[in-house]
Amino acid sequence: MAYVVTDTCVKDFVCVAECSTAAIAPAMGDPAAATVAQVYINPDECIDCGNCAAICPQGAIFTSDELPAAKAEFADKNRAYFN
Ligand code: SF4
Repeated sequence: MAYVVTDTCVKDFVCVAECSTAAIAPAMGDPAAATVAQVYINPDECIDCGNCAAICPQGAIFTSDELPAAKAEFADKNRAYFN
């Protein structure tokens, strides 16, 4: 399992600093931050701590197991960002 960021992310970067393993990117100030629509979680680095989902003011983060069907594509989108 891993946490997945979805399209209601407003790129406020609140979750980035809360991540236990620095699995969320890009960070505020990263050149890539200006070009992406949202932040992404690296599923290979996520340890399922849940800090990000708990703090996200948009409710944009789900576990892969609880990802709504309409947002299923975001599991691949999060992984693809790091490939
Ligand atoms: S806390 Fe939520 S809205 Fe803010 S960057 Fe993270 S996923 Fe996006």
